[in-house]
Amino acid sequence: MTMTIGRFGLRRRNYDFPPFRPPSEANSLLLRVTRGCPWNRCAFCSMYKGMKFEIRDIEEILGDIELAKDLYGDRIGTVFIGDSNSLVAKTEMLIKILNALFNSFPHIQRVTSYARAKTIAKKPLEDLIKIRQAGLNRLHVGLETGDRELLMAIEKGATPEEMIAAGKKAKEAGFEYSLYVLLGIGGEGKWEQHAKGTAEVLNHIDPHFIRVRTFIPQPNSPLYEAMVNGDFQPASPETILKETKLLLEKLQVTSQFLSDHISNLLPLHGKLPDDQEKMIQVIEEALIEVRKNDGLREEMEMRRHLTNL
Ligand code: SF4
Repeated sequence: MTMTIGRFGLRRRNYDFPPFRPPSEANSLLLRVTRGCPWNRCAFCSMYKGMKFEIRDIEEILGDIELAKDLYGDRIGTVFIGDSNSLVAKTEMLIKILNALFNSFPHIQRVTSYARAKTIAKKPLEDLIKIRQAGLNRLHVGLETGDRELLMAIEKGATPEEMIAAGKKAKEAGFEYSLYVLLGIGGEGKWEQHAKGTAEVLNHIDPHFIRVRTFIPQPNSPLYEAMVNGDFQPASPETILKETKLLLEKLQVTSQFLSDHISNLLPLHGKLPDDQEKMIQVIEEALIEVRKNDGLREEMEMRRHLTNL
């Protein structure tokens, strides 16, 4: 298939692009080490449903690196490794790939990947350190919620304790740790426990980055079906704002807080704890506005219909 993606505009046969990446990796070289998700059970996620998980052949991956080098020379500064959990690949294989990347692109400043907390928790610390030393320097991990009941309900496959253990271990290995929180995943009824449980896990880990996205039911996912059947009531914009405010009030971290996703109701960015009060104030003002402005509330509710996120 011939395709053109991103500012690098790769237009060649056989370069295998990861279909998803964090928004912060929009300008990165995208390198696919695995295809799909080895877990593929999260109830809110439709990303890789129907795709069989596999680890790509090392020669294919090295071929993609060569192709990117032919096209871009030494212009590559950041790399994102896909798909959903590259750390399931053998440590030796990841190190070989990282070595090839750094040999090909001498100006690389950052290499990042998605990873599952459970995989990090299982991987020996010495292996994580070796991978970190070979150049993978940031992990993007889906926490979604820190609440035990909700973690089970969404089939995240990790307990709060495992989330905490994985975060601490990744930091000990030297990674920058970026955790995703899914606002609204408790629906209309469980926003308080979601906010409190999430803050508790985040406070234990104190990750470098906390990134929030807002849950929007995606067709072809179990939670979307639950919503259609009336078994899950999505949180209203007001509830999501209250939940975000409570989360921020409970956080005792030194993380960068980012709202870098199209699904979010407010642009909230800041360094904690310095910007905590300012961000809470922004939410309080939005709450006042949304309670009196039907047009704004409807506009926010329309986001629930975004798909292909
Ligand atoms: S959210 Fe991540 S871990 Fe869960 S099924 Fe989707 S890709 Fe896999």
